[in-house]
Amino acid sequence: MINLETTGNGKDAKFHRKALTVEEARRTVLSRVHPVEAVEIGLMESIGRRLAEEVRTKEPIPHFRRSGMDGYAVRIEDIAQATSSKPVQLEVIEQIPCGKEPIHPITNGKASRIMTGGMVPEGADAVIMLEMTEEIAEGDRAYVHIRKTDSRGANITPIGEEAGTGALVLGKGQVIGAGQTAILAALGYSCVKVFRKPKVAVISTGTELLQVSEPLQMGKIRNSNAYMLAAQILSAGGEPRLIGQIPDDYARAERMLYEILSSDADLVLTTGGVSVGDYDIMADFFMKWEGTTLFNKIAMRPGSPTTAGVWRDKLLFGLSGNPSACYVGFELFVRPVLIGMQEGEEESARALTAYLDEDYMKVNAYTRYVRGFWHSDNGKNYVKPVGLDKSSAVISIKDANCLMVIPPTKTGIGMGEIVNIIPLTGAMFP
Ligand code: AMP
Ligand code: MG
Repeated sequence: MINLETTGNGKDAKFHRKALTVEEARRTVLSRVHPVEAVEIGLMESIGRRLAEEVRTKEPIPHFRRSGMDGYAVRIEDIAQATSSKPVQLEVIEQIPCGKEPIHPITNGKASRIMTGGMVPEGADAVIMLEMTEEIAEGDRAYVHIRKTDSRGANITPIGEEAGTGALVLGKGQVIGAGQTAILAALGYSCVKVFRKPKVAVISTGTELLQVSEPLQMGKIRNSNAYMLAAQILSAGGEPRLIGQIPDDYARAERMLYEILSSDADLVLTTGGVSVGDYDIMADFFMKWEGTTLFNKIAMRPGSPTTAGVWRDKLLFGLSGNPSACYVGFELFVRPVLIGMQEGEEESARALTAYLDEDYMKVNAYTRYVRGFWHSDNGKNYVKPVGLDKSSAVISIKDANCLMVIPPTKTGIGMGEIVNIIPLTGAMFP
């Protein structure tokens, strides 16, 4: 937490900020996260959401001995001597399609014809595949010739092969993807407890901002950040609420901010106005407000003035207005918070390494999080920046699949050097 008193008041404090590292800033905001409540919804609706309960099996999977082949359920001791020149003949006593509970146990000299997925009758200890057999009819009786023996248990999936009763199969906070949905369906969850979508209010600041539908005017730009953030919020499981855009008018901004902070939004994001410029009203707000400012500077580029605070237990992020900086600020700080609210683990936190695919000659005192594109070739990862490496860039954001982490350097970093990369998998829609 920043003691703003020691950094002076008003204008001075705007310039004298104590920088946290990215890790410190992440830890600071994550320590303020509270999970949202759970809601119960239908299985189909739950796809893509995060589980709010752990899931254990109520019965073994599978819960009956299951045939893995189309063939004959037999006793190995009856067919131990079977060869193609001297097949063993067994009497076929039952047909067992999928879904039928067998009536007859397999006893000495008997077999039952069974299909893949069928329930193996008692007494049988193997299923011999159809290709190794030949069925023949004699009068009203059916027989099968078995041309090959097999080992005990062959082609039978034993009870509980995948999981026993009470096994933990899904953890709290997991995203419900295809595999998770299959488990939930298999276990009979027609309704699933998931975390409610955190409501995220977005306020854009800037006198230069036009609505998307407005024609361009000299010196003005359309508000692209609000929609970019909406996409990021959606991809992190949140519910975006685009509150609106306000000019750089302190009194209006203050009124709106308290109104939104008092609303039922779980998290409030602003864009623009956090820097040290004359009209940077968010920087002024964070100096004077009734909340606690957690940090207002991070040792990184872009987005070093990224600010966060808490008001009555609610997090408020002041993201940079520069589109690329706003994007990076969300990915590094807001996404982990949203995932934390749903008790999930952040996939993109798992950093990889990659060889720089071109020289990166910019010098910098801070760590840079450069939007990059990485790919693998022959088992090695390579990365290079996408488009314009400027925090004001808009067009190239879509091309990034990672953030390249460029440590502080006085000389730049040459092609072929290894850097860390943070994949942006969470930010991408399929
Ligand atoms: P600021 O962070 O307010 O100093 O703004 C930095 C730059 O980002 C300026 O060029 C702004 O015009 C631009 N900017 C601010 N807000 C937005 C927005 N919502 N969408 C697109 N660009 C913005
Ligand atoms: Mg501004």
